[in-house]
Amino acid sequence: MPRAYIALGANLGDARANLLRAMEAMDGLPRTSIQHRSSLYRSSPVDSGGPDYINAVVEVVTAYSPLELLHALQRIEQGAGRLRPYHNAPRTLDLDILLYGEEHLDTIELKLPHPRMFERAFVLLPLAEVAPQLVTPAQLNKVQSQSIERLA
Ligand code: ADP
Ligand code: MG
Repeated sequence: MPRAYIALGANLGDARANLLRAMEAMDGLPRTSIQHRSSLYRSSPVDSGGPDYINAVVEVVTAYSPLELLHALQRIEQGAGRLRPYHNAPRTLDLDILLYGEEHLDTIELKLPHPRMFERAFVLLPLAEVAPQLVTPAQLNKVQSQSIERLA
């Protein structure tokens, strides 16, 4: 089954609980299971306001197609009370597909690989934890000035 990497982020409500619940919900999807989960990280908002974010990355294997997976993740976001009042608004839960196998897609609805994944420490550090082969030292080096803390 295809292997996909999903970035989780939240900075409203009980962000940590929202992330842990979202992991359970993903693991509970039909024909989808989490293989690896990163630690939780705390990061300052980039291009957005509000409280600090809690972030993580999980690796799943799934029989869903890329779009089916996106739609399932959007239902989980809705279940966490996700609103989209404006671009980059603070959020109770954000689930982004970073990679889905070797898929390359460039539609408005779904871009793969995720176009901004290599710009963000809050994606690369947890991704490097679950899949070190996917992140190079040079890529980590580029985001080293961004403030992020791995939580115990
Ligand atoms: P953000 O860019 O901050 O994650 P949203 O979560 O509101 O913002 O997502 C905006 C749109 O991005 C969604 O409607 C979704 O269809 C689209 N999108 C495109 N590529 C992806 C991807 N790889 N993962 C998740 N959403 C994506
Ligand atoms: Mg998103």
